[in-house]
Amino acid sequence: MTVPVKLLTQVTQAAKTHQPELSVSCSENAIKLTGPFVLSDLRGPFDCYQVELQIPSNFPWHEPTVFETGGRIPKNIDRHVIPSNGSCCLGVWEEWLVNVPGHSFDKLMTGWLYDFFFSQSWFEAKGEWPFGQRSHGKAGIVESYADLLGVTLDAKVIADHLKLLARETIKGHSLCPCGSGKRLRKCHRDSIQLLSNRIRPTMAKRMLNRIASN
Ligand SMILES: [Zn+2]
Ligand SMILES: [Zn+2]
Repeated sequence: MTVPVKLLTQVTQAAKTHQPELSVSCSENAIKLTGPFVLSDLRGPFDCYQVELQIPSNFPWHEPTVFETGGRIPKNIDRHVIPSNGSCCLGVWEEWLVNVPGHSFDKLMTGWLYDFFFSQSWFEAKGEWPFGQRSHGKAGIVESYADLLGVTLDAKVIADHLKLLARETIKGHSLCPCGSGKRLRKCHRDSIQLLSNRIRPTMAKRMLNRIASN
């Protein structure tokens, strides 16, 4: 799949606005941003990382891959660098998709990406992570989904919620996924209704596949 012009425009614009020192290049199936990623606050820039961002042509459905290329961040999982390919561990992608309406690259740049590098500087200075942190691998995915659904860390409760949300229509006589044994209409109907506006069937299916395959 070739890079859509609209995506290239969006990424170029976001870089120009927030990280003007990055250079943009485009290959067959990805956009690449390389150069310094600058951290700044009201007083101006205070830190900077050499990065390479690879934004796949099917962004936002697929997440970008991010590398710190200056050799500053130790390449291990305790520093949120994924050992298998050396890329930055930004978070569980479905969490970004559900929590960031519009899915614009601009919001990724000023949100998760910025926070990742900000956290690294904070950790260097203070030896702790500013925003807390999740587990890695399957445990981290389950934690993230539990948060998104507003349920406890129970694999069955999570899967039952997702199975319900994966349906095009949710019926009141279905069993409530909370595990109470009651019908939905006599239990969590209202909260499920609200959730179904945030987590659409396609997303619920994607999340189900991910917990089933990991
Ligand atoms: Zn991590
Ligand atoms: Zn319930």
